Amino acid sequence: MKKMALHWKILIGMVLGILFGLLMTFVSGGATFVLDWINPFGTIFVKLLKLIAVPLIIASLVKGISDLKDISKFKNIGVRTIVIYVLTTVVAITIGLVLVNVVQPGEGISDETINKLTQTYANSGGVQSKIAEASKQLKSGPLQFMVDMVPDNAIKAMSENKSMLQVIFFTIFLGISMLLIGEKNAKPLKDFFDSLNEVVLKMVDLIMLFAPYAVFALLANVVVSSNDPDLLVALLKYAFTVVGGLLLMIVFYMILVSLITKKNPFWFLKKLSPAQLLAFSTSSSAATLPVTMERVEEHIGVDKEVSSFVLPVGATINMDGTSLYQAVAAVFIAQALSFDLSFSDQLMIILTALLASIGSAAVPGAGMVMLVIVLESIGFPAEKLAIGLALIFAVDRPLDMCRTIINVTGDATVASIVAKSVGKLGKPNPKNWDDNYDNVK
Ligand code: ASP
Repeated sequence: MKKMALHWKILIGMVLGILFGLLMTFVSGGATFVLDWINPFGTIFVKLLKLIAVPLIIASLVKGISDLKDISKFKNIGVRTIVIYVLTTVVAITIGLVLVNVVQPGEGISDETINKLTQTYANSGGVQSKIAEASKQLKSGPLQFMVDMVPDNAIKAMSENKSMLQVIFFTIFLGISMLLIGEKNAKPLKDFFDSLNEVVLKMVDLIMLFAPYAVFALLANVVVSSNDPDLLVALLKYAFTVVGGLLLMIVFYMILVSLITKKNPFWFLKKLSPAQLLAFSTSSSAATLPVTMERVEEHIGVDKEVSSFVLPVGATINMDGTSLYQAVAAVFIAQALSFDLSFSDQLMIILTALLASIGSAAVPGAGMVMLVIVLESIGFPAEKLAIGLALIFAVDRPLDMCRTIINVTGDATVASIVAKSVGKLGKPNPKNWDDNYDNVK
């Protein structure tokens, strides 16, 4: 019998998880049951993915760079990647701004709804912690991001998933130095990392066996812990504006894939879909990264020389979904609270949303922290910040799930484009967890 494709299994898990979560909201004690007995399996799954992220980045980036044989190629890939990342993000923000100005989701919001949202969320821990975190980030100087990128202790950097850029910096440094000592001298280290890379990719295959059950747990938990449905309805126009923009981004990526890589965009989306579904279920592009790397390399055919650099860097700095959301949310809040925005304010949003998406961590809810910075850059009054965030807080989680799909899809699209442009988009070569099982069982 033909095995069911992974994305179908994950989708079924997601649908059942949502239905189960809905059912549990009607049962007394249902939410606590999900929290105590179901959610831990989702958490374990996310932890497993994060567990292998650092070894995977190191092994695959060392392999990628040491396969290059010449450093100028790496510079070539690096420059293209950053330029295309910035361009796609600017397109995303522009789409967001155009949509929010045309649809004007903030205009119809009644004072009553604003009051209700303010009362419910403005002083809540969620909103206050986002503002506090943003003010911490604001205090740093303009070049702080460069200082932060350089670790002073390689082992410490590797011990924290937050320090992804530091790990990437150290690994590129290591890889380039390996090229410089010549093939013969670098061979033992290269063989070690090649083998580690194979092993970690196998770990991804094994973890993914668990994915359909894990997404069940993750989504059941999202449903039972979601906010007041009445408030969600009041924000539907805003939510649809964000989702509409995100859908346009998918269309944009499909056009890029078809025009530049000459691949069928539907085939591309199908191959990437397990990573997209996980992005939706976990709301974290960092947690999804190992799966994105596996899908892009083995199932889409991007060479490791490209994907090992483009994808980890993208997970941290390229967030098209997040930047689109920040543009829509900033203007929505301004509209709802009658704060006039000039044309130059909107240009300022493009610039700050671009920087903010680069600075956003690839974890759930990070986009909202950086939204505070976008709002402050257009002179939004500090005393109204909590009210502004309260307006969008109720729908933040579902929108976070959707924008994370775009963040991951954007990274994969750019990886394919860069690969094509340097002649490194080859034939897919998918591997299964049990390819070698018969020999060891
Ligand atoms: N959750 C998003 C991500 O991990 C970031 C955000 O928009 O909050 O990609």
